[in-house]
Amino acid sequence: MTEKYKTETAKKVSGTYGCLYCRTAASFKGETNRMPKTCPTLTHETLTKDISAYEQEPLRTIMQAADKTPFTLEHVLRSRVEELIFYCHDLGLKKIGIAFCVTLMTEAQNLAKLLSEAGLDPVPVCCRVGAVDYSEIGLPKAHPDKFAAICNPVAQAELLNLAEAELVVQVGLCLGHDLILQQTCKAPVTTLVVKDRVFDHHPVRALRAGLDTEPVSGTI
Ligand code: SF4
Repeated sequence: MTEKYKTETAKKVSGTYGCLYCRTAASFKGETNRMPKTCPTLTHETLTKDISAYEQEPLRTIMQAADKTPFTLEHVLRSRVEELIFYCHDLGLKKIGIAFCVTLMTEAQNLAKLLSEAGLDPVPVCCRVGAVDYSEIGLPKAHPDKFAAICNPVAQAELLNLAEAELVVQVGLCLGHDLILQQTCKAPVTTLVVKDRVFDHHPVRALRAGLDTEPVSGTI
C-alpha cells in the first residue's frame, strides 16, 4: 500500500468492504446519503477520491480512449471487437498480438482478418506453440503412452515480445495460463474471450443463474 494511504489502510481491520452486500450502488450516482456506512467511498475517502494517477501518462491517455470507445460519434454502441479496433486506432497501435487457445483457432484467425481489414497488423500465436509434451514438465497425462502438448504461455508471450506487439489480445486462454501470459508479455494484455468450457465462454451465465445452470455447447 502506498505510504500516502497508510492511515486509511489501518481502517480496514477485518472482513471486507461494503461492496460485498451493497444494494444501492450509490457511488454510481454520487448519492452519499444512500451509501452504506462501510462504503469505501466514505471509509477510505483519501484513497478513493485521489485522481492524481489519471493526470499522468500513460493513464491519462488510456482513460480518454476508454471513455470514447463504447459509442461511435453517432452514439451507436460498438461490439467488443469494434471497440478493440477503435481503441487501437485511437492510441495509434498497429501491431496487435493475438494469444489464442488452440480450440479457438478459427475464431482467432477470423479476428486477425478483421484487424487486417481495419488496417492493423495482427500477430496470432497458438497456445500449443513449441509442441512440448506434458511429461517434460512433470504433468500427468490421461494416456501416458501418447503425446500431449502443454499450453506454453511463456513461449506464446515471448514470441509476441519478439514481434514487438504493442497490445496483446487474449482469446480463450486457460485460467492460470492467462496469468503467465500477462506477466511475461511486455505489451499490455486485454481479454477478448474468457475461457469457460461449460458455458461456451460466457462465465457471466454462472453469475446470473447459478453454478447449476444447464451447460451450453461450444468449443472446449
Ligand atoms: S462503492 Fe459504496 S455505493 Fe458503490 S457498491 Fe461499493 S458500497 Fe455500494
